[in-house]
Amino acid sequence: MSGYEMLSSFGSSHVMTGNQLSAALDDLLQKFTVVAPVMADNKLVYDEVKDVSDIVLDDGLPYKSPKEIVFPRAEDVMRFLENRVEEAQVIKPVLLVGAKPCDVAAMNVLDEVFTGEQGRFKDSFYNNRREFLTIVGMNCREKKAGCFCEERGLNPAFSVDCDGFLTLQHDGAVYKPLTEKGIDLFSGTAAALSNPVSPGTEPASHGAEPASHGAESLVLNTTEGEVFNAMPWEKYAEGCIGCGTCTFICPTCHCFNLRDSEKNGIVTRTRVWDSCMYPKFTLHAGGHNPRTKKYERFRQRVLHKYLYIPENYGCIACTGCGRCIRSCPGGLNIRNTVADIRSRLETKGEVPV
Ligand code: SF4
Ligand code: SF4
Repeated sequence: MSGYEMLSSFGSSHVMTGNQLSAALDDLLQKFTVVAPVMADNKLVYDEVKDVSDIVLDDGLPYKSPKEIVFPRAEDVMRFLENRVEEAQVIKPVLLVGAKPCDVAAMNVLDEVFTGEQGRFKDSFYNNRREFLTIVGMNCREKKAGCFCEERGLNPAFSVDCDGFLTLQHDGAVYKPLTEKGIDLFSGTAAALSNPVSPGTEPASHGAEPASHGAESLVLNTTEGEVFNAMPWEKYAEGCIGCGTCTFICPTCHCFNLRDSEKNGIVTRTRVWDSCMYPKFTLHAGGHNPRTKKYERFRQRVLHKYLYIPENYGCIACTGCGRCIRSCPGGLNIRNTVADIRSRLETKGEVPV
C-alpha cells in the first residue's frame, strides 16, 4: 500500500534460526490465516497453511501469484434478501509470508487501482481484505526462466514495500521489520525479535533502494498514437489461442465480471475473474464488440500494462515475474514484445518482422 512508511531505519534487523522462525509461525497460526509457499500437486503455490512444516521458504517462485488473498477468483459481494440488501463479505486477518519482491510490487499495483488513492474508485471489498493483510517479503536468489524483474527496475534481493522482509540465511533468516505491523508481528512469539544482527553484518540488500536496480528499466516511453496501429500486433499475437491463462496467472491482472445467481429465493451477486483475452470480454449489450480480433486483445493487454495503467496510476502493471511467459501455450512473450516495440520506436519501425 502506498501508505507504507518506507523508513529504512524503521526497525533493526534480527536473526532468526530456522527453528525459531518455524516456532514463531506456529504461534502466528493462532492469530492469522497464514498464507505461504507450500507444495500442492507437485507445484509450489501460495496457499493457506495448516501445518508450519508444510511451508517452503526457499528460492522458488510460486506458480500462481498471491493476488487471490485480496482479489479472490470468486467472491460473493452482495445478497438480495426479501426486503433488504446486505454485503456478503467476511474478513479474517491474513499473514502472507515469503512473498517474493515481484509479488510485493504487484500488490502495490493492485493497491493503486483498488484503493482509490490515485485512481477514481475505491473498491471496498479489496480495501477490507487489504487492511487485514500483513505481508512479509522474502528474497530471491536465482533468476528463473522467463523472469525479468531487474529489467523492470525491481531488486530481487529486497523490497521495502511490505511490513517486514526475510533474507534467507544458511539456517533461518534475517528479518527486517518495515512498518509498525512488521515490528509488532513477532512480539510474544518464539522469535520475539530478541536477536539483533551485529553492527555491520546486516545483509547488504537491506539498505538497497526499492527500484532502479539493475539494467535500464523496460518501459514504454511513448503514446498510444505512436504504437496503436504502427506495431506488428498480428505478428506478436500469432500463437495466441485465447485461453486467458496469462491474465489469470498474472499478479497484477484484475479484470472481473459480476454474476447473479438464485438459490432458495435468495439472489447472490458474485464477483468473478474475467480476462481481456476472451473475445466476449468487450461484447456490448447492443451487439457491438470493439475487440473481435485476437491481436486487438493482445494489444490491449500489453498497452494496458505498459501505457494505460502508467498514465492512470503512475506505475507499470508488469513486474517481470515471468509467469505469463512460462505458462503461455502459444509461446507469447510480453518481455520480448515490449523490447521489440522499443526497438521499433528507436529505429522508427525499421526492425524486420
Ligand atoms: S496464455 Fe498465451 S495463448 Fe493463452 S491467452 Fe495468454 S497470450 Fe494467448
Ligand atoms: S505480465 Fe507476465 S511477467 Fe508481467 S507481471 Fe504479469 S505475469 Fe508477470
